[in-house]
Amino acid sequence: MAWKTLDDMALDGARVLTRVDINVPVEDGKVTDATRIERIVPTIRSILAAGGKPILLAHFGRPKGKVVPEMSLEITRDALSKAIGSPVRFADDCVGDVAEAAIADLEAGEVLLLENTRFHPCEEKNMLDFAAQLAALGDVFCNDAFSAAHRAHASTEGIARLLPSCAGRLMQAELSALETALGNPARPVTAVVGGAKVSTKLDLLGNLIDKVDRMVIGGGMANTFLAAQGIDVGKSLCEHDLADIALKIMEEAKAKSCELVLPVDVVVAREFKANAASDVVAADACPADAMILDAGPASVARIAEVFETSKTLVWNGPLGAFEIPPFDMATNAAASKAAELTEAGKLLSVAGGGDTVAALNVSGTAERFTYVSTAGGAFLEWLEGKTLPGIAALG
Ligand code: AMP
Repeated sequence: MAWKTLDDMALDGARVLTRVDINVPVEDGKVTDATRIERIVPTIRSILAAGGKPILLAHFGRPKGKVVPEMSLEITRDALSKAIGSPVRFADDCVGDVAEAAIADLEAGEVLLLENTRFHPCEEKNMLDFAAQLAALGDVFCNDAFSAAHRAHASTEGIARLLPSCAGRLMQAELSALETALGNPARPVTAVVGGAKVSTKLDLLGNLIDKVDRMVIGGGMANTFLAAQGIDVGKSLCEHDLADIALKIMEEAKAKSCELVLPVDVVVAREFKANAASDVVAADACPADAMILDAGPASVARIAEVFETSKTLVWNGPLGAFEIPPFDMATNAAASKAAELTEAGKLLSVAGGGDTVAALNVSGTAERFTYVSTAGGAFLEWLEGKTLPGIAALG
């Protein structure tokens, strides 16, 4: 899909309503992780450099359409001005007289942050009136919040229909990474799909089977596939009632020439706790009183081989219970292999989803991937092949 970028817009003197995601973690009134704030700086700088006035629209928490003082965006103001390197003005409302007056006061080179869009019930209902009130405040709409693009809200979707619209720098980076990975990828393409359950990833599996050449299945999900083939998985996390669906997915993969890579050996333990005594056994030899908590070394070696002969990798979900060592072994080892191949220029690697980002951070490999998306829900919906309304509205 074609979308415009900031370079395509007339920004000199323009009021640029810029939808950002600065829904950062806060403790005791202080921002504890400013990553999301730092990632929007290139967009703000681009607008300023082109002579535009950045007016930031954002949500914070889930105030459910009411003014909740603890969910005021003012809490992000200091971190924002520190990241941008200049003062940030703040308006107590995102529409109406208060917002209009703050915008009228805004001097060239200044940035304005408007209050939480979700203080208004019409935001999440995507009411046209409210979108029009937002649109009336600006000349151009710039969407830099990929992570909110799966929701059709007034500040992500409605407004884009009312103003000349474009993608911000972060959105641009995210979309081009995703497009390179699945839109028109260098082949072979491998997907790693891990995590707890098959039931939460059915759409994702269905879409990926159509698009990738190999699919590594790991984590609790793999147990469901093993059990569906008649293998006893003991006390492992397993969705026995999904056996038919797992078999159907395997058939579909075969029909579409997508090679499924399941564990050949596994790490089993009798307790789900850190440093519990564990053994490596063949994938079909889990003792009846044990649980599979990770893929084994032979599986990791097989995954490494698959990565070595792939050109593109898309990764969502850990290969084991990565939060509790030693059951992080397979995830860490496979992530290190992907990072090494990426650094050698042999693999384009894109990963995303909440647990995946956490797992890659634990293994210290996140910065070594080509692109790691922090956009949880939006990234997953994109992997599922769904149209994201915030992006569709930019077209
Ligand atoms: P998801 O949110 O579906 O990506 O699942 C991630 C969760 O799956 C993490 O909390 C992992 O600890 C968990 N997980 C992965 N493999 C296993 C396993 N073999 N047994 C139990 N939990 C697992």
